[in-house]
Formats: sequence, C-alpha cells, structure tokens
Amino acid sequence: MKELRTVNFGKGSRQCRRCGTHKGIIRRADLNICRRCFREIAPDLGFKKSGVRGG
Ligand SMILES: [Zn+2]
Repeated sequence: MKELRTVNFGKGSRQCRRCGTHKGIIRRADLNICRRCFREIAPDLGFKKSGVRGG
C-alpha cells in the first residue's frame, strides 16, 4: 500500500486573495498574492522598489 501524503496542491490551496489567480503566488509574509498584485500593493505595504526605471 502506498503512503498517502497530504498534498494541498488542488484548487483553493493557495491563490491570490486579490485577483484569485494561482500563478506566481508570492508566499512572502503570508501575503498570498500573485506577483502582479504584489507590484501594485508593494509600495502600499512599504516595500522598497529596487531599480526603479520608467515607473
Ligand atoms: Zn493577484
């Protein structure tokens, strides 16, 4: 009998709480948001932009 591991990679496992996507989720500080949303709210969260160029 195979060992059953608890794998939470199904739906609703970890998704962007902002737009709901499952791609590019950032797990930093348990933000649970995707990269795109992160870029938008990053400044609001106080994250410093490294290499600001063009805006
Ligand atoms: Zn998002």
